[in-house]
Amino acid sequence: MLPLYASSLALVPLGSGSKGNATYVGDGRRGVLIDCGLSALQVFKRLEAVGLGGSTIDAVLITHEHSDHVAAAAILDRKLEAAQGRQVPFYMTQGTFGRLSDAHRPRQVEVVPTGARIAWQGWTLEAHAIPHDTPEPVAWAVESDGARVGVITDLGHAPRLMEQLLASLDVAVVEFNHDVQMLMDGSYPWSLKQRIRGRHGHLSNDQAGELLVRGASSRLKHLVLGHLSEENNAPDEALRAAEQAVQTLGRTDITVHVAEQTSACGPFRVSARPHAVSSPTRRPRAAPSAPAEPEMLSLWDAPALAAEPDLRDATDAD
Ligand SMILES: [Zn+2]
Ligand SMILES: [Zn+2]
Repeated sequence: MLPLYASSLALVPLGSGSKGNATYVGDGRRGVLIDCGLSALQVFKRLEAVGLGGSTIDAVLITHEHSDHVAAAAILDRKLEAAQGRQVPFYMTQGTFGRLSDAHRPRQVEVVPTGARIAWQGWTLEAHAIPHDTPEPVAWAVESDGARVGVITDLGHAPRLMEQLLASLDVAVVEFNHDVQMLMDGSYPWSLKQRIRGRHGHLSNDQAGELLVRGASSRLKHLVLGHLSEENNAPDEALRAAEQAVQTLGRTDITVHVAEQTSACGPFRVSARPHAVSSPTRRPRAAPSAPAEPEMLSLWDAPALAAEPDLRDATDAD
């Protein structure tokens, strides 16, 4: 296991794409998994592959109920208990919980409101609203001593809230789902093409590049391109769009990586920023099982998102 200093956060995309998503965030003392669309076995194997075998997963943060994000939840729940000797809480919104099938439902669920900031074991966990075709999807961000990492995938467009979230991150996974021309020229049925391109579908390479130009701040050090479509994108196309955006920003110090479906990459590390805490409000350490009373993010633009249609599609084909 690589040394993970207590003063730094490491983010590891374990797998990304429509066949399964999971991202590990840890500091050597505690860790969370953002989504569990990969099998428990693959989660453990891929952590091992990047030198983080034996890292604990102390909570699982679910973005939404599409199977590429929750498929392993019930099994992972049992495997984590067997490996670590205790049940692990799964954090998710009420909207996500309500749509979870029995087969995907873990035993210990902590329901959080969209826009919540949760004090958890010395970290802050944030659930930011995203525009996607499920009842209450979120993007999770994790903060530790001012260091901030987050996963921004599965969104049809990038509202101001996402620009603000991206601006606050040192390490970001951003969705580069499809190349519009490849999607439109491809074999998908028209209705699916429309869903993917819709305001609650997935970000194209160009949309993601625009989000970067508008949102990335000087603190962004590592950019990971995530949730690439196998059918409707190519790593080179996504990289081209990202590098063009980075060039527009005039930055030469951002590392850009493409997350893969079948293997992990990273770890991407960031050091603590003890004097650069993004929010003046911090809460004392709380037990994982007592996250109630979350604070609400002031950036939450619920009315705008709540007005969007809910397509209630339980799959996530792209
Ligand atoms: Zn997805
Ligand atoms: Zn989805």
